[in-house]
Amino acid sequence: MIDTLNQEPYDCIVIGGGIHGVGVLHDLASRGICRTLLLEKNTLGSGTSSKSTKLIHGGLRYLKNPWDIPLVYEGLQERALLLKLAPDLCSPLEFLFPVFKGAGMPAWMVRTGLFMYDFLAGSENIKKHRSVASSEATQMIPGLDTSRMRKIFSFWDGQTDDLALTRLVANSATSLGAKIKTKTSVQKILKKEGCWQVKTEDGSHFTAKTVVNAAGPWADKVLKSADLSPIYEGVNIRGSHLLIEDLGLKAGVFLQSPPQKGRPNRILFLLPWHGKTMIGTTEAPQSSPDECAMSEEECAYMIECINYYIHRDFTVADIEQQFAGMRWLARQPGKSMNKTSRKHKITTHKNAESPLFTIYGGKLTAYRKLCEEVGSKVAKKLGVTKLSGTKSQENWDLNSDYKAAIEGRFEKLRQGLL
Ligand SMILES: Cc1cc2nc3c(=O)[nH]c(=O)nc-3n(C[C@H](O)[C@H](O)[C@H](O)COP(=O)(O)OP(=O)(O)OC[C@H]3O[C@@H](n4cnc5c(N)ncnc54)[C@H](O)[C@@H]3O)c2cc1C
Repeated sequence: MIDTLNQEPYDCIVIGGGIHGVGVLHDLASRGICRTLLLEKNTLGSGTSSKSTKLIHGGLRYLKNPWDIPLVYEGLQERALLLKLAPDLCSPLEFLFPVFKGAGMPAWMVRTGLFMYDFLAGSENIKKHRSVASSEATQMIPGLDTSRMRKIFSFWDGQTDDLALTRLVANSATSLGAKIKTKTSVQKILKKEGCWQVKTEDGSHFTAKTVVNAAGPWADKVLKSADLSPIYEGVNIRGSHLLIEDLGLKAGVFLQSPPQKGRPNRILFLLPWHGKTMIGTTEAPQSSPDECAMSEEECAYMIECINYYIHRDFTVADIEQQFAGMRWLARQPGKSMNKTSRKHKITTHKNAESPLFTIYGGKLTAYRKLCEEVGSKVAKKLGVTKLSGTKSQENWDLNSDYKAAIEGRFEKLRQGLL
């Protein structure tokens, strides 16, 4: 039963049930702050948090940007933690990184990056990188075209199911006493007597001492509904994925886009996933979060990549599923889209003493750390000194039915329900 108007204010209302929204709720609950309510307009994880590449990783490719090294380090530490905290859902996966003649980075650069990746993972590393013979590589990646291959490396990262992870974190929060209301869209946020009053589409009103805007790509809209001006310019970048028949991959594949004049070198992944092969992701500007869909160019580009590296001749007719999601990043002045840092930002708007925090950016892998940062800010405002307990498995509801979230996932995708 959810309290409405005239009740004592909630300690915190969280808007958005993606990984960051449920993560903040879980963090607060693990500190004993349970007079909390999460409002999600659709179903949990239905936004970006079911459209990611599903990697639990430091982000090897971000090592190209020296300013993102701390981000890679943080991702690797959180990778190690998630593999321990939720081993049924987050598991290590071997990756092959083939280096081809004329495509992207040379072998020495890749090897340097892999040394650094191992170094940053420290004692929590899964396994160190190594060189792989082409005969072994073709066993692990059936059909791999080795004729133009210079070198092939193996390294390790993690893989999950983003939707199930979001459900697991949500269930962990509610098992500690937090409340969640789905199918409830926030329409308006008003300042009322030193608190925030949150009005929803179904006519309910909720008051809170603090609000966390975790609406991801919709966060600007939420700020607008509170008559607040965004502190950063949010940039939406679309990333699309294709699912094709199972290619029998025994490892993930880290591919550099085939050489083409005038096209930036990008990284794509080929991954085994739920009995299919997934390829992604792209990067394209996206204006409206409600109209996020893969373009024909992105589709053609991904098919070109598979056919360039694998001895097959795939066409659009071979695509079984597709999905697209949005990264919502804080724009850095003077930087191009793919040079904009993935480092998250948290901004604060105040109504008297009551803060409204907005989350920009972030990664599935490092969601726990980001949410701990937000949780600390909320706890400080509420005068709660207990620290976050999300690193401790006893605060996780690992027996809950979180895997049910992914039943019928492909059908839901087909019907546009995810
Ligand atoms: C293509 C792509 C691939 C990625 N791959 C990886 C990866 O492999 N590994 C990794 O670590 N990270 C990855 N990421 C990043 C990661 O997926 C995101 O950082 C993360 O999912 C964002 O979660 P979120 O909770 O901020 O947003 P979302 O998941 O989008 O959640 C926001 C929620 O707010 C709800 N909402 C919006 N407006 C309202 C409203 N008015 N009222 C109520 N609810 C509302 C929405 O319905 C939505 O559910 C990827 C991102 C993209 C785009």
